[in-house]
Amino acid sequence: MTPPVEPSEFLITRRSLLGMAASLALLSPFASLRAQTPWSNPAADRSLHFVHTHTGETLAVNYWCDGAFQSQCLAPLNHFLRDFRTNEMIGMDVGLLDILYELQDLADRDATFEVISAYRSPQTNALLRKSSSEVAQKSLHIEGKAIDIRISGFSSKKLQQLALTHQRGGVGFYAKSDFVHVDTGRIRSWVG
Ligand SMILES: [Zn+2]
Repeated sequence: MTPPVEPSEFLITRRSLLGMAASLALLSPFASLRAQTPWSNPAADRSLHFVHTHTGETLAVNYWCDGAFQSQCLAPLNHFLRDFRTNEMIGMDVGLLDILYELQDLADRDATFEVISAYRSPQTNALLRKSSSEVAQKSLHIEGKAIDIRISGFSSKKLQQLALTHQRGGVGFYAKSDFVHVDTGRIRSWVG
């Protein structure tokens, strides 16, 4: 039996990705927003709003103030983004927060991110792999470097396009379940 494939096996070359990103940038109505990424004002505060689709919990955090990550925000964030099946948590990669903040900025709205899955313990990942060939054995969710999200009231397809154009890590699009996976790993993309 063929083992389930890693998303990385759907890797498209960086060259083709760059070509795709360039095409998207030309076609995308969001292209004009590219110049308004938060990095044009790195000192600006960065806040995020979340609702968790499984626990129903909500969280609003101002995770970056006065030019630094706000450590007091990270503990509630790590708890919010825990493995909701086992209640285990990990220190999430703060680079993910910036990716979300940038996507929110590119989407040009005060977004609420609906979280489908963030940290997954190895135990939970193994459990999920039994029922889905789309769950990678070495999932970055296990390392706290990946999150599955959608933006309330915003097309997940558009969110995928923004993330692809943005080129900050992995981007997976799951149309049927209506969410986008983003991670801080290598730049690559796949469709689930
Ligand atoms: Zn994912």
